[in-house]
Amino acid sequence: MPKMKKIGLLTSGGDSPGINPCIRAVVHEAVQQNVKVVAFKRGFAGLLDNDCFEMVLNDVSGIIQKGGTILLTSRCEEFKYEEAQKEAINNLIKNECDGLIVIGGDGSFRGACAIADRGVQVVGIPATIDNDIYGADMALGTDTAMNSIIEVIDKIKDTASSHERTFIIETMGRNSGYLALMSGIATGAEAVLIPEVRYDLEKIALRIKNRYKQGKISNIIIVAEGAATAYHVGRQLSKIAGIISKITVLGHIQRGGSPSAFDRVLGSRLGSTAVLHLLKDKTSCMVGLVKGDIKVSSFDTVFNNKKELGPSLIKLAEVLGK
Ligand code: ADP
Repeated sequence: MPKMKKIGLLTSGGDSPGINPCIRAVVHEAVQQNVKVVAFKRGFAGLLDNDCFEMVLNDVSGIIQKGGTILLTSRCEEFKYEEAQKEAINNLIKNECDGLIVIGGDGSFRGACAIADRGVQVVGIPATIDNDIYGADMALGTDTAMNSIIEVIDKIKDTASSHERTFIIETMGRNSGYLALMSGIATGAEAVLIPEVRYDLEKIALRIKNRYKQGKISNIIIVAEGAATAYHVGRQLSKIAGIISKITVLGHIQRGGSPSAFDRVLGSRLGSTAVLHLLKDKTSCMVGLVKGDIKVSSFDTVFNNKKELGPSLIKLAEVLGK
C-alpha cells in the first residue's frame, strides 16, 4: 500500500469545546508525517459542495483556546442518502484525499461509516458534550460542558439559598443523563432526573417537603432534557406538594466556551492518534479515551454497544442528594 499523501478533515453535527485543539493536532501531526490536510467546511455539507482548502500550520495557530470549530459545522440531512455519499467520494477523489478524519458525534459517525463502506479510509474522533459514545470514557467537550454547568449552578445556589427557593435546572442530554448526573454530584444537588433511571416525582416532592420542615431552605433539582422538561417537573411539584420553584434551562451555554485543560489535552491526543491510525491503514473506526489510553474501536462496536452510566455513580448521586 503506497503511503498516504493527503487526508480530508471535517467537523460535523453538534459542536463541542475541544474541537479546535483537535483540529490543530491533526494538522501538526500530518505535517510531522509529511501528509497534507484538506479541510472541508460545514461538515458533510462542505464535502458535498466541495467547499475545501488546504490547511497549513498557520491556519491552526492561536486556536487552541477557542470554543466551537473554526471549520464550521452543520447538519446535512441529504448525506443519509446514497447519491450524496457517492458525490462525497467523488470530491474526496477529486482532491486526492486517501483518507478522511471526521470529528463529531454518533450521527456523524454513521455518515463516516457510509464513506468507509464505499472504500475510503475513515477514522472518527468522538466530540459531543453528551458523552454518550461507546468506546470513549470521555468524549471531547464533555469536561468543559460540565465545568460550564457547575459554574452556573454554583451561582444559582447563592440566590436559591438567599431566597429559600427550589430551583429546577435543565441540562442538555437527549439520551444520556451523564451531564446531569455528574453536575448533580459536583454541585450537591438534592435530586437528579435522568433518562436512564425511572423517577417518582411524588417521592421527590415528599422528600423536598420533609427537608423543608427539617430546616433545609433551598433545593437544586437537575433534569436532563431527555428525562423531562424543567417546566414539566416544576408544574408537577407544584401540583403534588405546592412546591414553588424557579426554572433555568441552560441551553446552548453548555456547548460554548474555551475548552478546559482536560479537553485541550484530550483533543490534542485524539487528533494526533487519528492521523497515525489512518497512516497505519486503519479504517471504519474511532479513536477514544479508554482507561487513560487512546484506543481504537470499530464503528460496528461503537454502534452496537450502549454506553452505561454505571450504577455506582447513580447510587452516589442518590446518597449525596439526601
Ligand atoms: P452528531 O454527530 O452530533 O450526533 P447528528 O446526529 O445531527 O449529530 O448527525 C450529524 C450529521 O451526520 C447529519 O446531519 C448527517 O449529515 C450525518 N448523518 C447522521 N446520521 C446519518 C446516517 N444514518 N447516514 C449518513 N449520514 C448520517
